[in-house]
Amino acid sequence: MTRPGGETRVNDHHPHQVSLPSSLQAPQAEAGEQAPPLAAPVPPVAAPEIAPGTAAKLSVRDFSLYYGPTQALKRVTFDVLEHSVAAIIGPSGCGKSTLLRSFNRMNDLIPGVRTEGELNVAGLDARSPATDVVDLRRRVGMVFQRPNPFPKSIFDNVAFGLRLLGLRDRAELEGRVERSLRKAALWEEVRDRLDRSALQLSGGQQQRLCIARCMAVEPEIILMDEPASALDPTATARIEELVLDLKRSYTIVVVTHNMQQAARISDRTAFLLNGELIEYDETRRMFTSPREKLTEDYITGRFG
Ligand code: ADP
Repeated sequence: MTRPGGETRVNDHHPHQVSLPSSLQAPQAEAGEQAPPLAAPVPPVAAPEIAPGTAAKLSVRDFSLYYGPTQALKRVTFDVLEHSVAAIIGPSGCGKSTLLRSFNRMNDLIPGVRTEGELNVAGLDARSPATDVVDLRRRVGMVFQRPNPFPKSIFDNVAFGLRLLGLRDRAELEGRVERSLRKAALWEEVRDRLDRSALQLSGGQQQRLCIARCMAVEPEIILMDEPASALDPTATARIEELVLDLKRSYTIVVVTHNMQQAARISDRTAFLLNGELIEYDETRRMFTSPREKLTEDYITGRFG
């Protein structure tokens, strides 16, 4: 885990008020508009709930998951609003990836997995055996920790899902590939070498290519499992900028062990511990005045 270390302190006067380094600014809300630093005083807010007229793109209710006899997720409940970024944080082994993989039924592939509760994902009942998993995975794309381009050309990587969906028209494919690469902030770097192998790209470029591949089939939700942990700081910064840009069009859930990253890119943060959701709140609120002592202990580096 990346410890905030000596830079992060508990405020002496307000034990639950956590001071973060001044470099840890909240993401800019609009171009040119600088959001206040996370350490700014935050007025008390009500427990998060769905504001009237705001749609939850992902709704988790009393969701539990068992690997055989072992319960990995314990009655987890939270909502992710459309066009927002939710971060899932917590120490290694607390169930972050398990939760993320549940959203597009990737755990189905593991023998002995059993679930309980409700999982409404992009308008589909993700737990129901009647739900078409192909449809679910088209609506819910996934980006993994290590960039995993196919050993094919850059063009063919992005066109892959579209071809699977039956798109054959070359002009239409070219248009969609270009749009996805532009959205992934990669077009300018690869426009003159679309026929080259994707494996020749740098790690950061490969990860943006995987994001472009995921976006090509126009999902509604993008799941990201530690998307920058294998990248250098410059490539990481580009992925973070991209996430902030993409939330205008998509709903994003990102697992990260890096709390500074969660603070920079997410609107809300879920803190998991031993499969339990300890706290879910607006990110700024959680990192400045967590409600739970366990959250405070975790974000100040006392364990994990
Ligand atoms: P995290 O992503 O927070 O590191 P995981 O979701 O990977 O946590 O794991 C949560 C718990 O579930 C851990 O105790 C882990 O050992 C267990 N687990 C994960 N995958 C499997 C699996 N395929 N079979 C059995 N147990 C698993």
